[in-house]
Amino acid sequence: MIRFERVTKRYGDGTTAVEELSLDVGEGELVTLVGPSGCGKTTTLMMVNRLIEPTSGRILVNGEDIARTDPVRLRRGIGYVIQQAGLFPHRTVLDNTATVPALLGWKRSRARAHAGDLLEMVGLDPKTYGPRYPAQLSGGQRQRVGVARALAADPPVLLMDEPFGAVDPVVRERLQSEFLALQARVRKTVLLVTHDIEEAVRMGDRMAVYGQGRIEQFDAPAAVLGAP
Ligand code: ADP
Ligand code: ADP
Repeated sequence: MIRFERVTKRYGDGTTAVEELSLDVGEGELVTLVGPSGCGKTTTLMMVNRLIEPTSGRILVNGEDIARTDPVRLRRGIGYVIQQAGLFPHRTVLDNTATVPALLGWKRSRARAHAGDLLEMVGLDPKTYGPRYPAQLSGGQRQRVGVARALAADPPVLLMDEPFGAVDPVVRERLQSEFLALQARVRKTVLLVTHDIEEAVRMGDRMAVYGQGRIEQFDAPAAVLGAP
């Protein structure tokens, strides 16, 4: 579903963030990208929705070379969740969740009904939380809205960059379990970036363990942990 073929990214200042990286992620698979800060995880992720363009190599999504795909069309099929949720502060929770369907031209009433269903799905009562503003939610609740919004157009692919990184450990564990339960139902193809090895082990069908700009191991968590 997502395929990297010998992808290199060198930034303008000469920094090589990712070098000759190859990776194959199957449909409905959740792959965690794990490693210390600065090893190239976010760069890898952001090349998938073309927020960053590779210097060389090729990335395929659903068999299509994304360099030849219109970025707007590409992003329609890709949900994106970032740390601190990235919500629009001056829009209500319901409007935040309905943003993408509205951009896709859905009728306002349908977009809002759908947004309500999505909030339910991530465990937020739309009557209570829909009218609130992001600042009126806890960190964990904001992350749930971030997930709901990313799923709004039912994209086959989900990119998650430290999605549970900004909350305390207890909330983090709850969000992790909730997301795994949700993923068991919706079966998105997920790339999840984390620097937390426990999170990578817990969440990943497979985990890609980064060294500097490279993937050093790519396997099921049990196999990675069992490796010498
Ligand atoms: P990670 O997500 O693993 O923390 P990143 O992909 O953010 O790593 O960064 C990989 C490397 O690329 C780091 O050395 C970082 O400093 C560098 N880098 C990231 N973004 C830029 C940029 N816009 N310009 C120059 N160097 C960058
Ligand atoms: P606005 O129309 O308010 O300026 P944006 O254009 O910033 O909004 O974003 C519109 C929607 O598209 C947001 O809900 C956001 O989640 C989604 N979006 C923005 N950037 C990306 C991206 N790189 N990949 C996937 N979805 C994105």
